[in-house]
Amino acid sequence: MSEERTLILIKPDGVQCGHVGHVLSRIENRRYELKALKMINATKEQLRQHYSQLVDKPYYPGIEEFMTSGPLVAIIAEGDEIIETFRKMAGPTNPSEAMPGTIRGDFARAWGPGPIKNVVHSSDSRESAEKEIKIWFPERN
Ligand code: ADP
Repeated sequence: MSEERTLILIKPDGVQCGHVGHVLSRIENRRYELKALKMINATKEQLRQHYSQLVDKPYYPGIEEFMTSGPLVAIIAEGDEIIETFRKMAGPTNPSEAMPGTIRGDFARAWGPGPIKNVVHSSDSRESAEKEIKIWFPERN
């Protein structure tokens, strides 16, 4: 057993297309525990911190525009091996490569040029999770 927590974002496309409930159901169906949940508008500063490895990429301005295009839902969820398992549940970054049954495979698809709109983000390691929880839930520190 490896109890851990992760930071999940339901991105603006997920909120706009009505997938908040679908994503929450998948978390709960796996018996993961929702520890915190809120709807917020991301600031550019939060995004620069969150995507610090991508800020120099040519497609970063597109990510910023997409991620500030509407509210997102930020979630802290906890459970055994949740970091790796939720990333499997989300599927690969590119929705075209995501298998049916994954969140991205069921609720997203590639759609022309620009930022990849893929419904969810989730932390890729315990270290990232702690960093990202501080960014999106500063009031908990
Ligand atoms: P993941 O979200 O699967 O962990 P990354 O951390 O590599 O993937 O990328 C973060 C986000 O940046 C992606 O989810 C996607 O929205 C966007 N993104 C990544 N690569 C590209 C790209 N080549 N073109 C446009 N947007 C991208």
